[in-house]
Amino acid sequence: AGETVHLEFESHSHNEQFARVVSAVFAARLDPTVEEIEDIKTAVSEAVTNAIIHGYEKEIGVVHLDLTIEDKSLTIVVRDEGAGIANVKQAMEPLYTSKPSKERSGMGFSFMEAFMDEVTVESELGKGTEVRMVK
Ligand code: ATP
Ligand code: MG
Repeated sequence: AGETVHLEFESHSHNEQFARVVSAVFAARLDPTVEEIEDIKTAVSEAVTNAIIHGYEKEIGVVHLDLTIEDKSLTIVVRDEGAGIANVKQAMEPLYTSKPSKERSGMGFSFMEAFMDEVTVESELGKGTEVRMVK
């Protein structure tokens, strides 16, 4: 049988680090390689940063992080109840960003897809976004 951890935290930017470290500690139960741990941390960092800066652009909201281990695979779900995404397919294209700037390169979803085996995104405008990743 699997095991799971559910976390909720406010969308303060410093909580990105918290989410990343907690995910790495949980994933350690699978006895991953150093590279696998780094991949997981990067993917969580990108998804949580998106929830914080895009989902809750001008407000502080709750970010949900669900971690599940089952049959030697890790599922990570990052969910916000913020702005939502009008066009998920476009948002996931490499280099697409709704906030062109020095900091945003539009590569977050591309990194998640590169570093995890599976990435699915469900989103509704005004309702929020759920990113589900499996490794
Ligand atoms: P980077 O991740 O390289 O800093 P980015 O965040 O703009 O730049 P992606 O992470 O690939 O790039 O996301 C692409 C776009 O999808 C974002 O610019 C934003 O418009 C939208 N998006 C992503 N996550 C969310 C979210 N949780 N809520 C609302 N919009 C989102
Ligand atoms: Mg991003």
